[in-house]
Amino acid sequence: MKNALLSELFEQMADIMEILGEDRFRINSYRKVARIISDMPSDVEMALATGRLAETPGIGKSSLAKIEEFLKTGTITAHKELLKKIPPTLLELLTIPGMGPKGVKAIYEKLKVTSIAELKDAIASGAVAELSGFGDKKAAGIAKGIEFLERATGRIRLDQALEAADLVIAELEGLAGIQRMQEAGSVRRRAETIGDVDILVAANKGKRIIEAFTKAPFVQEVLAAGATKGSAMIRTESCPVHVDVRVVPRESFGAAAQYFTGSKQHNVRLREIAVKAKLKLNEYGLFKGKRTIAGAVEEEIYQKLGLDYIGPMLREDRGEVEAAKNHCLPEAVESEDIKGDLHVHTNASDGNCDISELARAAKKLGYKYICVTDHSKSSAIASGLSPKELGRQIKQIRRLNEQLKGITILAGTEVDILADSSLDFDNKLLAELDFVIAAIHSGLASPREKVTTRTLKAMDNPYVHCISHPTGRLIGQREAMDIDIAAVVKHAAETGTALEVNANPWRLDLKDTHCKMAIEAGVKLAIGTDAHSIEQLGLMGFGVATAARGWATQADVLNTLSAEKMKSWAASKRKR
Ligand SMILES: [Zn+2]
Ligand SMILES: [Zn+2]
Repeated sequence: MKNALLSELFEQMADIMEILGEDRFRINSYRKVARIISDMPSDVEMALATGRLAETPGIGKSSLAKIEEFLKTGTITAHKELLKKIPPTLLELLTIPGMGPKGVKAIYEKLKVTSIAELKDAIASGAVAELSGFGDKKAAGIAKGIEFLERATGRIRLDQALEAADLVIAELEGLAGIQRMQEAGSVRRRAETIGDVDILVAANKGKRIIEAFTKAPFVQEVLAAGATKGSAMIRTESCPVHVDVRVVPRESFGAAAQYFTGSKQHNVRLREIAVKAKLKLNEYGLFKGKRTIAGAVEEEIYQKLGLDYIGPMLREDRGEVEAAKNHCLPEAVESEDIKGDLHVHTNASDGNCDISELARAAKKLGYKYICVTDHSKSSAIASGLSPKELGRQIKQIRRLNEQLKGITILAGTEVDILADSSLDFDNKLLAELDFVIAAIHSGLASPREKVTTRTLKAMDNPYVHCISHPTGRLIGQREAMDIDIAAVVKHAAETGTALEVNANPWRLDLKDTHCKMAIEAGVKLAIGTDAHSIEQLGLMGFGVATAARGWATQADVLNTLSAEKMKSWAASKRKR
């Protein structure tokens, strides 16, 4: 499907010509062609082959020749010629919200500004404000646009993307004519970071839906609004998010969901299978000659390609296509399988509520147990517990368990692995606990050998059941430790130690590919929210998705076990 790319080329030719002050008539006709192609419900290649394109009003002879040239060669000579006439960085100015070709033309001609960096300088010097037709207000607006762009071009976390998707879906949900709606793209695959959020709608009349989206109160900047696609920057509580809404006919919804969910590599594999079977797969459906053999239902696309259905979280071309062919896809772990949370903090360390509040909230979530894992004394900023305080907490937990019904509190700790690889509590105290997780909270920037040895030594301790956030990364904020993850996984298998999947969307640590390594080595995953509040108990789904993306089944996840089985699993390491 080359429609989008082709439309963009025509749009860009129009932009360049406008900046160069060329013929208005031709500029307008190129824009029209761009719009026709992007709104076209079918493949432009097909439209050309059937002769329909030549008959479309607005597509003149010279445009038709350019389209033909593009489909044959992948480029358009006229486009390349135009690009030669301007500095290569000039086009980036057009990506600034609120900057059109007219503004770029003025700034380029009068101030010789050719890039965003130069534009920033020109704004700072006051030169832009002095330009006729600009003024202080407009210059400030452009500066804001640049700031916005720079903030928004980075990838966002999964929780931020889901917040945006939920916002848009809730806004559109009530509209008449919507037959189906769901997210697509990397947010549907639950990837750890997201570029832009894709929402897919099945409906007959797209225009009204796109309008409702682009006029929604949370929209900050409309980037594009056509008959079937709208693109906008929206404001969520945490950050600006780029959202695309696409409207497709119901009979193509499954194919579009498959196509736009990706990943690209996964889709390439699917198209290969289609080609081998003499079929054609695109965002409109799966075709045998001109006959549609699947399109409305995503599952049918896989079925007709001879594959078991592959859930979105597995679509990364990491062996799932082969597994689907051989009927051995993993049955992914789900949130409903989780029986308890193995990593929570109370106000005894740096959490904000007490043990019984957390236990009651966990019971409401349907859990059978939670494990209280406050910090140890070396984590001074987290007001870690002294041995004496932990001893008192254990007694308190035993007492509470006699009063509470329907939920068990396990006594645990998140004990610091110290710089010399020893643990912050002695074994005598650790032996009193039901479940012990150990973690590195300091010296994360140490050399590879150091952080790896610290972790391996901690696993040697028979009382350590799990290593929490094994790489220490904070997404978008702090790099992972330079730790030898293969050695960690191997030693976890050797010592019968679980590895955590920290469910906090800032962490997702282990990450998906590391989860897969661990599972293949026979290591159990322990999913914990690391909750410091009742609200954060709700983060479990992020950890479950990450584990599932790493091919985890229920059997691979420790906290799918009942409280009794959990306790006996924990006891078994001590007997080794
Ligand atoms: Zn921690
Ligand atoms: Zn923690």
